[in-house]
Amino acid sequence: MISSDSSSASPSASSPALSSGKPAASGKAAAKRATKAPVTKAVSKTTVKAGAKAGAKAGAKAGAGPESRTALVRRARRINRELADVYPYAHPELDFENSFELLVATVLSAQTTDLRVNQTTPALFAAYPTPEDMAAADPEALEALIRPTGFFRAKAKSLIGLSTALRDRFDGEVPGRLEDLVSLPGVGRKTANVVLGNAFGVPGITVDTHFGRLVRRWKWTDETDPEKVEAVVCDLFPKSEWTMLSHRVVFHGRRICHSRKPACGACPIAPLCPSYGEGETDPDKAQKLLKYEKGGLPGQRLKPPPDYPGLPAAPLGAA
Ligand code: SF4
Repeated sequence: MISSDSSSASPSASSPALSSGKPAASGKAAAKRATKAPVTKAVSKTTVKAGAKAGAKAGAKAGAGPESRTALVRRARRINRELADVYPYAHPELDFENSFELLVATVLSAQTTDLRVNQTTPALFAAYPTPEDMAAADPEALEALIRPTGFFRAKAKSLIGLSTALRDRFDGEVPGRLEDLVSLPGVGRKTANVVLGNAFGVPGITVDTHFGRLVRRWKWTDETDPEKVEAVVCDLFPKSEWTMLSHRVVFHGRRICHSRKPACGACPIAPLCPSYGEGETDPDKAQKLLKYEKGGLPGQRLKPPPDYPGLPAAPLGAA
């Protein structure tokens, strides 16, 4: 689930921290404003610059000296609240209509973008709508359909294997328990958590490349093993937040806190981030790095939820 992002010069970041227009007296004060001020859709150049200064000061403070466990929990929860304001429409970025489709789409999303998966699955699900259909698929025909997602031979083997297991061991139904899901071919803990959280309402933290990168930038943990990251983050939040936190963090990673060029100067959680300054801090330049709906561009889903403020993605092969 690695995004293939593109940039735009259309600024539209919603940023309480950046819209206050007041210089930060301290990191604590900046963080307080960041969590209490109302979210605005448009940000003027003047206020963006003031917010960037606040970020610089508070970011420096957040990164100075050891942070107590209590302070870390508070800061992590403030970041989550801020992200909830910025992305109230956060959602899984794979198109699916049922748990089987979500399971298949998540397996296909390894080493490619959700967009490419979403462009591939309409034809796939039309040809094989149920586990029974996919279990009986001709491997070469299945491979041809999923070829755009890459690693298509291994993925076809996993899809036929997991569909066969669903048919033979689970009466053709996707199970709603972690231990059953990870027993399916090609299904790891991350895939299982995506399915549990979004098709069964079972809270789970999904640690993908974006999630791991951001929580390390925020100094929630320095672990790199996804299972260890998951355990640390689970301990910082109540269970009820786990699934939506996962979506919000991934949204932020795809739109603002990019791997190579984080848009720090347009980041609404700069006052809470010890890594402020790792990316572009000039507000005007940072605005140009924003992606998807924050940059006025289409999202990854061909069928986004009704509250998504961006444009739907185009089908495969569309101009
Ligand atoms: S863009 Fe990322 S690194 Fe920069 S301030 Fe925001 S969260 Fe921190």
